[in-house]
Amino acid sequence: AKAEGRNCYRIFDAAMDEAVTRRRELERDLKTALADGGLELFYQPQVRANSCELVGFEALARWRHPTRGLIPPSEFIPLAEETGLISVLGKWVLRTACSEAARWSRPLKVAVNLSPREFQQSDLPDLILGILSETGLSPARLEIEITETAIFADRGRALSILRRLKALGINIAMDDFGTGYASLATLQAFPFDKIKIDRSFVGQVEICPQAAVIVRTVLGLGRSLGLSVVAEGVETAGQMRFLIAEECQELQGYLFGKPQPIASFTEATGGREGS
Ligand code: C2E
Ligand code: CA
Ligand code: CA
Ligand code: CA
Repeated sequence: AKAEGRNCYRIFDAAMDEAVTRRRELERDLKTALADGGLELFYQPQVRANSCELVGFEALARWRHPTRGLIPPSEFIPLAEETGLISVLGKWVLRTACSEAARWSRPLKVAVNLSPREFQQSDLPDLILGILSETGLSPARLEIEITETAIFADRGRALSILRRLKALGINIAMDDFGTGYASLATLQAFPFDKIKIDRSFVGQVEICPQAAVIVRTVLGLGRSLGLSVVAEGVETAGQMRFLIAEECQELQGYLFGKPQPIASFTEATGGREGS
């Protein structure tokens, strides 16, 4: 049994080594990707619920790895956060989303995700202001999506950053609402424009009465606080009907389109400038 145990450790060590090596490789490759244009933005449509009219897109990062294929953000965003690459990545996302949106033929909104670490940078408002003036995008067309975790770390600083972003005319959305803590107090104290109901609730509204109650409650909360509500992860016509009946303002999900390169939406965004 002892020998077996040792053997077991050896296998475990080997697996650990492999994980560490893979991580180092990924970190190195992510640095290269950031320098060499290996990252892309995909866009997912957001529609007005009662008319299905397109109102904007959420920008979602993708990494096209030379040998591993398309790597999802769930793998490289945490890596970027742990290694400090997130600030370079975040700047790239903001700059790319704003400069692409500035070239769309219609003044649709573009929503950009900010991870908790990015959001803690106190020079964030200046950074965004610089990108807006560089790209010519109107601040009213930019929406920043943050989660409750971003605020939780340092509420004072978060509030001052949010106020400065608000003062620039940028929209602020609370992402993944319902999955974190301190939701109600935070919504009241912070200058949000919008709540995004997490798709874990939206996906259950037809089959789980509790999920339906939660979604209804969030919609009521939005109404009483004067915030617009977006439902994420709408996949079925039944979910859409429920959300329209409950007066949800905006919808986003595979039912209306998966995240795709902006070129797939030329009908919505028109040709490039001057064409
Ligand atoms: P999120 O901000 O909650 O983004 C929504 C996620 O739900 C996206 O996954 C999207 O593809 C997926 N989704 C949308 N509609 C549906 C649907 O109908 N059904 C299902 N099953 N899924 C749907 P994605 O693109 O893999 O992104 C995952 C997360 O990674 C995002 O969650 C966000 O937290 C983070 N992320 C993505 N891009 C960026 C970025 O540029 N910067 C930062 N900081 N985080 C990002
Ligand atoms: Ca989001
Ligand atoms: Ca979300
Ligand atoms: Ca999420």
